[in-house]
Amino acid sequence: GFPRRGIRGNFVPPIRSNGSNTGHLTSRISGKGGDALDDMTKKCLELLCGPDGELPEKLRNLEPRLIEHVSNEIMDRDPNVRWNDIAGLEHAKKCVTEMVIWPLLRPDIFKGCRSPGRGLLLFGPPGTGKTMIGKAIAGEAKATFFYISASSLTSKWIGEGEKLVRALFGVACCRQPAVIFVDEIDSLLSQRKSEGEHESSRRLKTQFLIEMEGFDSGSEQILLIGATNRPQELDEAARRRLTKRLYIPLPSADARAWIIRNLLEKDGLFNLSKEDITVICNLTEGYSGSDMKNLVKDASMGPLREAMRQGTEITKLQKEDMRAVTLQDFESSLQEVRPSVSLSELGTYEVWNNQFGSLS
Ligand code: ADP
Repeated sequence: GFPRRGIRGNFVPPIRSNGSNTGHLTSRISGKGGDALDDMTKKCLELLCGPDGELPEKLRNLEPRLIEHVSNEIMDRDPNVRWNDIAGLEHAKKCVTEMVIWPLLRPDIFKGCRSPGRGLLLFGPPGTGKTMIGKAIAGEAKATFFYISASSLTSKWIGEGEKLVRALFGVACCRQPAVIFVDEIDSLLSQRKSEGEHESSRRLKTQFLIEMEGFDSGSEQILLIGATNRPQELDEAARRRLTKRLYIPLPSADARAWIIRNLLEKDGLFNLSKEDITVICNLTEGYSGSDMKNLVKDASMGPLREAMRQGTEITKLQKEDMRAVTLQDFESSLQEVRPSVSLSELGTYEVWNNQFGSLS
């Protein structure tokens, strides 16, 4: 085999297949044969057990290693993003609050006519805050956040994606309310089929749709968020399940200004005039939120680079002697940090939004 990397880049040992998915896990946790599992896996399974000390039905036939992977690598107990960290996107925030956060907080009110959709699609150029929105939803709704990149299911978990998907939904079920965020969902639910499509990726897709169907009808408190920058690749079945489809566009000039101020203020580096900000905003048309972050990072190096040019040694540099970040720093960084989204790409999103997007 080859070394695998987890979502956070750490080593994930290949899954042992020692027949560990037969029989009751619980007996193995507490007693006979329990030695087959390492302490971390045992601890993880114990945390998922109900008050009776039994592992929930849904998890009993799953491989302990996969459950552990979901719990430790995919699940994020503290997503740590709030609405206030996200610039602009007022429309998306408003829709999401009504559609997703309220129902997660008050399931008793949101039934019958008011029962919410369980699938949300966030589409738009890369680096515009789709993942941030997913995390903020979980944070605001006090839900457990699960993040998985769909391409890792097909690339890293070859042949095991299906089992991992089952483990993912199984653990989410035990950790309600839950938000499952599937990045690059197009690579999982794409409409390209037949010849090139392997049997295994078709099974993976089917498994995924089955899991979604499962909680769609029930009273589960699970929300699935798919994110993509290739919405046109999604097929009809995927669109049908992701009932709400929100366009997450590039940041407006105001939002770009906000990002600059917010990032610099956090570090106590903000010293630009209103006019400076306006100039920068005019020069950054077409930059994504992530491009803006890179720009600010680069510009904030300006004072440091200048001190070095003047011969100061890094070890002797006094923080107090460093000058503030200026408009000129931004102007030279603009040569280095270019926008990552092309204009022609934007047209594609607009077209898809007009055809399939939710307006409210
Ligand atoms: P996406 O999921 O749309 O590709 P992310 O949510 O991962 O993009 O954003 C990447 C980074 O770019 C964020 O961590 C944040 O620093 C910055 N960013 C992007 N959009 C925004 C935004 N609207 N407000 C503030 N920061 C943003």
